[in-house]
Amino acid sequence: MSTWNPWRGCHRKSEGCEHCYIFRANDRKKIDTNIVYKTEEFDKPIQKDSKGNYKIKSGQMVYLCFNADFLVEDADEWRSEVWEMIRIRKDLTFMFLTKRIERFNIGLPEDFDGNFNHVIVCCTIENQERADERLPIFKALPIKHKMITIQPMLEKIDISKYLDDDIEYVIVGGESGKDVRPLDYEWVLDIRRQCIEANVSFDFRQLGSIFIKDGKIYNVKRQLLCSQARKADIDYIKQ
Ligand code: SF4
Repeated sequence: MSTWNPWRGCHRKSEGCEHCYIFRANDRKKIDTNIVYKTEEFDKPIQKDSKGNYKIKSGQMVYLCFNADFLVEDADEWRSEVWEMIRIRKDLTFMFLTKRIERFNIGLPEDFDGNFNHVIVCCTIENQERADERLPIFKALPIKHKMITIQPMLEKIDISKYLDDDIEYVIVGGESGKDVRPLDYEWVLDIRRQCIEANVSFDFRQLGSIFIKDGKIYNVKRQLLCSQARKADIDYIKQ
């Protein structure tokens, strides 16, 4: 596993961004998240050591832009260069999340279709409006590996009409931190039901810091958010 942040910084895009952990972490350090800048690891996948070997060893999953949005507007001029580095490293798997799937074609190589099957794209949604806005666009794109991330999940959402063989995984989670919006377990179970009916893999990634189960409200410590979701043992693997 490796990370690659060719740029840092982002802008809030929609409701799910309200308590963005990147903004929160940067605010504490007095860093302005709205300034998007290229980093010193811009060319990390093609950096080599003194023996001429790639520093990122073959076969790894590379989490791309997990400190920004890969499709953020400010990075448009840099993105085609990043795609070319991804093309070179076909021995790696790259994954990124985005709330800007409508911008996917900006900077995209003309021969993307069929030549970038080592890239996993996660379209992030948070409510019904964003699902109906983003998922039709996502479904129409020639991406080999597609996942839907519903995090933070802000309300009950019906995504059943978007679920078929085209979607490899649906990941659900709540919001973490102080004064966040609650996650109702009923919403999670409802997405799980939709996934099972469509035979799409489902992953309950984390509770919310405010979590509702059977009508009762719980305040969950940050360190328990993921482990409690695992304990629920409701993940589903496509049959
Ligand atoms: S798009 Fe992602 S990184 Fe950017 S502000 Fe929203 S949640 Fe944060």
